[in-house]
Amino acid sequence: MARKIQAIRGMNDILPDQSSVWLYLEKTVADVVKSYGYQQIRFPIVENTDLFKRGVGETTDIVEKEMYTFNDRNGESLTLRPEGTASCVRAADQAGLLFNQTQRLWYTGPMFRYERPQKGRYRQFHQIGVESFGMSSADIDAELIILSARLWQKLGLLEHVELQLNTIGLASERETYKAALVDYLTQFKDQLDEDSQRRLGTNPLRILDSKDESTQAVLKDAPNLEDFIGEESQADFDFLQAILKANGIPFVINRRLVRGLDYYGKTVFEWVTTHLGSQATVCAGGRYDGLVEQLGGKSTPAVGFAMGIERLVLLLETLSLIPVEAKFSTDVFVISMGDDAGLASFVLAERLREENAHLVVLRHCGGGNFKNQMKKADRSEARFTIILGQDEVDQGVCQIKDMSTGEQETRPIDDVAAYINTKL
Ligand code: ATP
Ligand code: MG
Repeated sequence: MARKIQAIRGMNDILPDQSSVWLYLEKTVADVVKSYGYQQIRFPIVENTDLFKRGVGETTDIVEKEMYTFNDRNGESLTLRPEGTASCVRAADQAGLLFNQTQRLWYTGPMFRYERPQKGRYRQFHQIGVESFGMSSADIDAELIILSARLWQKLGLLEHVELQLNTIGLASERETYKAALVDYLTQFKDQLDEDSQRRLGTNPLRILDSKDESTQAVLKDAPNLEDFIGEESQADFDFLQAILKANGIPFVINRRLVRGLDYYGKTVFEWVTTHLGSQATVCAGGRYDGLVEQLGGKSTPAVGFAMGIERLVLLLETLSLIPVEAKFSTDVFVISMGDDAGLASFVLAERLREENAHLVVLRHCGGGNFKNQMKKADRSEARFTIILGQDEVDQGVCQIKDMSTGEQETRPIDDVAAYINTKL
């Protein structure tokens, strides 16, 4: 036998018993974002490597060690997108959708990061991203957060996630803070973990995120970012909080929240859960007013967030929050004996689908004897089985078996669709 080829480590197949949960989640998201006036945008999975280097930032974890980068046949460096924001900006700007206008956009699809695979962390994973452009006031930050809260509410997740908020100020404020932080931390360099020592020279803000105990101990007396936040950033942050309060959305302020991507400024936020171990963040985002310009466009304010579909699916499963309607099930199984009945069953199955688009109608293919076909009907767990033989065709009727009660009755073929509609 030929050797079987396996999937790439950290890249999962979504099998039929899981895909219905994905469809349910994607449909719920699509409905919610639409109700806020967001339109979908689609862009390629592969982009020029420079887009992510410039967009996400050279010293971020993503660019430093997580990208799938390769040369194409022309020797051009391409990268499988590790996130969607940079591509979304590239696409929207390229199409002239950004300058002097507002946009509310969303996207969904696979992202690729070379990380150590574990529960809730994969090398191909999927995000749904929501981005807004052209609005500088913090009310759009609030809208995005409220939109995400509505989504959690629809999914039954609201009480299982916590909103963490912070403001990381303007770029100039962060620069002053970074200098103060580096000055302070340099005195204790030996006590920092290896990653943090390296970040001292590259991305010092990320040190605040370190899980290392010794680093955390040093950080206790470090300068606080909030002391460096200017009036404008603070006013925006206060405004955002006031809107959230008015809408009854609880939040906690996490002064250590800085986010791992370079492009954020002012508002940053995460929705975290205690149900997924260390992969706790299901949704993360913030304001990134500098990114469009950094990527060569005209300065455009922007805010957005992305959520991880795998983590949300895990959360829904862990909490048993998948509604029965979301699960795939067969409503009607159609079997037939003989050539005439075979043809008639096709026509009948089409009619059922035509008259009730929600029905799942499975017509048995490939013939076989009555007993075998009935076994398949049983296994399908359909609510009804429709049986057609030559006698039924001659009389213009069919047998309908209610699989939950075992009761079987004869009905005119013309009435079947209407009858099933009253039952399902
Ligand atoms: P983390 O801190 O967990 O590494 P991140 O800050 O790298 O997350 P973002 O780039 O902000 O994550 O992506 C937004 C969301 O996408 C995350 O909150 C998470 O839900 C999801 N996500 C990120 N990386 C992965 C991954 N490797 N596998 C599965 N989901 C992921
Ligand atoms: Mg990460």
